[in-house]
This record gives sequence, C-alpha cells and structure tokens, in this order.
Amino acid sequence: MIYFDNAASTKPYDEVTDYLYDYMKNSYANPSSLHKFGFECAKTLKYAEQEVLKLAGLNDRTVIFTSGATESANLCIKGTAEKYDDIRKVHIITSAIEHPCVAQTVEYLKRKGATTTIVGVDSCGIIDTDEIISSINSDTKLISIMLVNNETGVIQDIPGLFKRIKSEYPNVMLHVDAVQGFAKLNLDLKDADFITISAHKFHGPKGVGALICKKNTTLIPQMLGGGQQNNNRSGTINTPLIGAMGKACEIADVSKYQTYVTEMRDNIIKRIHRELSEYATINTKPESAQFSSHIISVSFPGLKGEVLLHMLEQKNIFISTSSACSSHKKHTGVLSSMGISKEMIDGTIRISLSEFNTVDETNIFVDELKQAVNTLISMRR
Ligand code: PLP
Repeated sequence: MIYFDNAASTKPYDEVTDYLYDYMKNSYANPSSLHKFGFECAKTLKYAEQEVLKLAGLNDRTVIFTSGATESANLCIKGTAEKYDDIRKVHIITSAIEHPCVAQTVEYLKRKGATTTIVGVDSCGIIDTDEIISSINSDTKLISIMLVNNETGVIQDIPGLFKRIKSEYPNVMLHVDAVQGFAKLNLDLKDADFITISAHKFHGPKGVGALICKKNTTLIPQMLGGGQQNNNRSGTINTPLIGAMGKACEIADVSKYQTYVTEMRDNIIKRIHRELSEYATINTKPESAQFSSHIISVSFPGLKGEVLLHMLEQKNIFISTSSACSSHKKHTGVLSSMGISKEMIDGTIRISLSEFNTVDETNIFVDELKQAVNTLISMRR
C-alpha cells in the first residue's frame, strides 16, 4: 500500500501506539482524583504540555487539551466573541482559505450578529496582508489566519503578519490554525495569542489536540461541567490520548522531516512536469511562494479528480481530491478563491506525504498516475 493522504491523517508512530496501549492498561485513574494513583496520571498533563510547547518553540504558554483542532478553533473563536456582551460590537477577520472549523465558526458568529471580514488570496493562495490591516477597526476582536493550507500546502507569513498587527493593534487577539504546519515547520508563532493543533496530523492519535494560549488570555469555556483544566474545558481529562500526543511531539524531528519529505515532493513535481505537463497543472508552486513539503495539489483539466483517486485506489495507492473532511461535498472554495476554474477544480488531486513514505513510492505513484491519466485521455478520444 502507498499512503499519500497524510494531510487527512497520519499513521501513528509505533511508540505512540505502544504508549497508548500501555497507558490505557495501567494508568486508568482519573487525573483529577485526590489519591496518589490519580496524581501519578495527572503528571501526564505536565509531560504533554512540555512536549507540545517545546515543539511549538514557546515555553511561556498554557495548553488547553481538546478533542482536536475543530474543538480548539471553536473554543478560541466562540470563546473570544462571547466575552463581549454585545455581539454586534465583535468584528472578526479571517481569510477565504480557512479550514471549515474556522470558516464555519466565524460564519456562525456572523449569523448571531457579529461582523466579519473575509480576506481574499492571490493566485498562489497567499493572503492579502494589507487587506487584513486595512480591515481592522475599533470593534476588531480577533483575527484568525491559518499557517499552512491543507489543500495546496501554501504557507502564510504568520510571523511577519502577526508582528505587524501586534505592534499597531496590541489588543486584537490573534489565532493561527497551525494544524498542517506543526511538527513540519520551524515555527515562529510568538505573536499568536492562540495556536490550534491536532495530534493525528503529526503521527499522534485521533481525537486529541490542543489550543496553546498566551498566559494572560481569557476565553469563555465551551464545555461546561466539572471545571477541569482550570475551568477552560470541562470533562474527564483524556490522559491516554494527551500523553500519546506528547509522545508524538517528543519523537518529531522537524529538520530531518523537512529534508526527507521535500526530496519526495520535489521528485513528484519534477516528474509530473517532465512526463505529464501536457495534461497537468501543478497548483503547488514552490518556485513562486513558500509551500510546505508534504502537500502537492495537481489539476488535470477535463478529467475528474475523483475518478483518478479511485483508479489509483485499485492499485492500493491512496490520495485525496481536495481535503478529506470536505470530500463528500463538491469543493471547499480554497481553489476557487485562487481563481482556479471549476473544470480545473473538478480535476484536482491532493498528494500528501509523510516521513513514512519513500522515494521509491513516489516513483511508483507517478508511473501509476501516468497510466491512469493516459487511460482516461484515450477514453475521451
Ligand atoms: N485545520 C486544518 C488546516 C486541517 O487540515 C484540519 C483537518 O484536516 C483541521 C483544522 C481540523 O482538524 P480535526 O479534524 O483534527 O479537528
């Protein structure tokens, strides 16, 4: 099997599954219990927090553990907006290429009366930062911008943008959805008030993530109950998954990852350019902007991405059309906001890599892709 759908989810490290098994078997006490067994389990939170923060390159933050990025983004965005008595006085800025967990939450608040600005992108998918700055007004409470786009791999200059905003507008809260960049890029997110991550995107388990927060920030909790995690997120704390996320952070090696995955990505791009240029347009353009090494978006105008996906599936090769979470919908709007036509979008596939892949796999993949494309082209004639 060749698994090239790592932006949707990754294979957990063996150390992570071993940790999880052992933890669930032996460390099952409630970390909020007052006895020493509970107290021992509570130490897991400190361990995971330290590992998350080390990988984030930040040591002066707190971590709220959640069920994943969707919950983290909801907590951050709704939890910020709800701090204000009059929702009509809440203005939120975000971009046209955000993941639905941000886009839908902002849309929800708009329906509740907040005002919103959705900033566009250029043909590479780079967000117009001047438009963000010029959209800020006295009601602006939160700006939420993603680090790496999950469909194209484009990286936004979050350090530059957030520094600029904080120097001019220190009271505006800044959230970055860092899901596709965490454990993959050297991060400089010190100006972010909130950072969203999800463990299954970096070889941890599904169903666990975090919202990394500056120490002085406050949020209205979205989960009410027993007051766990300093009242920020009630519910019995999921120590096995949280510890396993810490383990995945401990194992991650960003510079090794980048060198290895970039070589595979560049091989795929080079071969598609060389051998399929007649039929393919590559939307991931490392020569014109910064792109994360694990995602490649390619369009085959006139063909159907979904058909290519299923033809490759027959060969035990797994890719995706755009993003997995929206694959049952038509498309998310990320590519159309870049000015890509519907015909191109319908013919788009996403190849996403991880450190478990090999250069050999990339060669087998391109061979099979060529065969599938040629079959479809010959059927059209
Ligand atoms: N943000 C980005 C950029 C993503 O790629 C994803 C998942 O694909 C999410 C948020 C949501 O993550 P989760 O489904 O783990 O909540």
